[in-house]
Amino acid sequence: MIRYIIYIIPLLLIFSFNPINNKFENYVETEIPYLKELYIDIHKNPEISLMEKETSIKLANELRKVGFDVEENFGGYGIVGILKNGEGPTILYRTDMDALPMEEKTGLPYASKVKTKTFDGNEVGTMHSCGHDMHMTVWTGTARAMVERKNEWSGTMMMIGQPAEEIGAGAAMMLKAGLYEEFPIPDYGIALHASPTIPSGKVGFGKGYIMANTESVDIKIFGQGSHGAAPHMSIDPIVTASMIVMELQTIVSRNLNPLDDAVITVGSIKGGTKHNIIPDEVNLQLTIRTYKDEVRNLIHKRIKEICNGVAASMGLDESRWPKIIMPEQYTPANYNDELLIDIMTNVSNSIIGEENVVTAEPQMVGEDFARYGSTKENIPTAMYWLGTVPKERMDKYNSGEYALPALHSPFYYPDIENSIRTGVKVSTESLIKLFNM
Ligand SMILES: [Zn+2]
Ligand SMILES: [Zn+2]
Repeated sequence: MIRYIIYIIPLLLIFSFNPINNKFENYVETEIPYLKELYIDIHKNPEISLMEKETSIKLANELRKVGFDVEENFGGYGIVGILKNGEGPTILYRTDMDALPMEEKTGLPYASKVKTKTFDGNEVGTMHSCGHDMHMTVWTGTARAMVERKNEWSGTMMMIGQPAEEIGAGAAMMLKAGLYEEFPIPDYGIALHASPTIPSGKVGFGKGYIMANTESVDIKIFGQGSHGAAPHMSIDPIVTASMIVMELQTIVSRNLNPLDDAVITVGSIKGGTKHNIIPDEVNLQLTIRTYKDEVRNLIHKRIKEICNGVAASMGLDESRWPKIIMPEQYTPANYNDELLIDIMTNVSNSIIGEENVVTAEPQMVGEDFARYGSTKENIPTAMYWLGTVPKERMDKYNSGEYALPALHSPFYYPDIENSIRTGVKVSTESLIKLFNM
């Protein structure tokens, strides 16, 4: 009996061992040093929206190195890498490339010290605080892995390096430049976004709407300037603006159905120059997040009514009511195709384990990846969340002594190695599965 067990154990081991997975895991480990170096290089050299020149050259070179045909400067600094590998579907995999105009405060040895002169002439710190550096690293790692595993799939890989995501412009720029005319029309599109709340080693999936419509609204409020000591001779736009800001708070709380989601944030209020001068103009900048068009329309209507109503109550005649600049275009909500999410979830369950695959709640952030699936071609797209929170931060958060920094926080940083490892595995295996459908 014992002899029988001794024979059966090695046999069980042989049958439970998946040689492809294991070989790929080993391959990914050998890639980590290279990709980590690339990550640190990109992180240290961030470029803000519409200035991604060096970053795009770097990525184009990475793709060429492994055999992609690459077109550069396609829709701004956009790049399109094509790898034809026989008959089969075309699959788009997009990364964004831009950083944000803010100073990094992580204190990391590889923190960015870059300063950028913006288009309006200000000098600003520059940081990859939205994790796009990690997106680019995983994207490069995936391109390399797809070449390494070329004999396991056939079709056309379409790698997109997109500029200007943070200003919601880059995807539109690339589509307008003729992405779906100059290159094959993709059958599917995938992307990932770094998650500031999911631990590294895990991924998150959500079906349907996962990110909101986002739009920026500008409001110019007029008044009548005067000496600060003579308010009776003014129509004070600072007071008008304050009233408008407070009234805007009632739209979500009082006008919307409580079961609908929306956010209205006044992110900037600017007016005046000095203590004792009542200015004649104040400018507000708002961001609006919604899922449904009827909610979006209601919000637009109420913003107008509030601005005009408050201005009238301040004694401004109609010609001096606030000027509201609504966006012509807005970033549409991201819709994750259900079938794609099912496939990617199953792939992830088997490659990183069910315990590392979480369901992600919809969020009010926006992402212009939505545009690739919102054209007349109606391409099914899906974006997954890549967990990036380092273990030391997660432990502190779980013990209640620490709030996790959000994306766009000067303190945000991903766990480099584990995020790369998980991202390359999930993206590569998902693509191979999709090519073989
Ligand atoms: Zn961002
Ligand atoms: Zn982002």
